[in-house]
Amino acid sequence: MQVYTHPACLAHETGPGHPERPGRLNSVLRALENAHPTIDWQQAPRASRGQLLRVHSEQQLEQVLEHPPVELTLLDADTVLSPGSAEAALHAAGAGIAAVNAVMTQRTERAFCAVRPPGHHATQNRAMGFCLFNNIAIAACHAIDVYGLERIAIADFDVHHGNGTQAIFEHEPRVLFASSHQWQLFPDSGARSETGCGNIFNDPLPEGSGSTVFRASWSERLLPAIRAFKPQLLLISAGFDAHARDPLAGLKLEANDYYWITRQLCEIADIYCSGRIISMLEGGYDLVALAESSVAHVDALCI
Ligand SMILES: [Zn+2]
Repeated sequence: MQVYTHPACLAHETGPGHPERPGRLNSVLRALENAHPTIDWQQAPRASRGQLLRVHSEQQLEQVLEHPPVELTLLDADTVLSPGSAEAALHAAGAGIAAVNAVMTQRTERAFCAVRPPGHHATQNRAMGFCLFNNIAIAACHAIDVYGLERIAIADFDVHHGNGTQAIFEHEPRVLFASSHQWQLFPDSGARSETGCGNIFNDPLPEGSGSTVFRASWSERLLPAIRAFKPQLLLISAGFDAHARDPLAGLKLEANDYYWITRQLCEIADIYCSGRIISMLEGGYDLVALAESSVAHVDALCI
């Protein structure tokens, strides 16, 4: 089990009052250091231009990388570019690449990428929803291109729908995307009827849903879809904003629900993926919930 991070990810500033703030990552790192003092920490390298271009357009790279702002600049209503954002985005994407290399060369079976900015809302052409580059999609494309994988499953339990990941892969049968999320929350996509080329599985949950509904959704619908796909590599978009304490959403999960879903996914990885499983931090905006939930998640990955 390895944990990838980089100090540059703390230098992506978003301004006073913004929920996607550096303190989030500090909270995760402190909690993991306390709970897992002997964990194998790894420095996340930068992603290369070629690795980013497997997913994103030249214009997208230019917007994020080529014109570092001297002060905070809004890319849309809630997505901010700061002087440190380009480096943070490069290392966040690079974490997933390095983790893919590590699991594919048997240096570890499992990895967690404690990075920011998050990624699952970023589309091929557009930074949005606090996300600059789609870190999980960049990791998946690296695994396909470099290691020739033919079946990669992405499980996304962030409370928001991973619209960017879905849009990037909806015509790509080598990637399955399975997501639970709160219905009619930002970005207002992720209906069950959105099925891509038969590779997209969405389960929108009503506001107020808690552990029972969440576990039923994964047990009855999303995990069976992943099992039937027989993935060679399992990736997780690990957002912890479906926690009951989270200020941005209205689901009612507790830290032990993240332990549960992570164990379920590890069991699938053990059967089909030679144990290979990589998780990347997405959302989660209450620092207490984020610390507890990320520890529960990593506890389950460490078993
Ligand atoms: Zn989210």
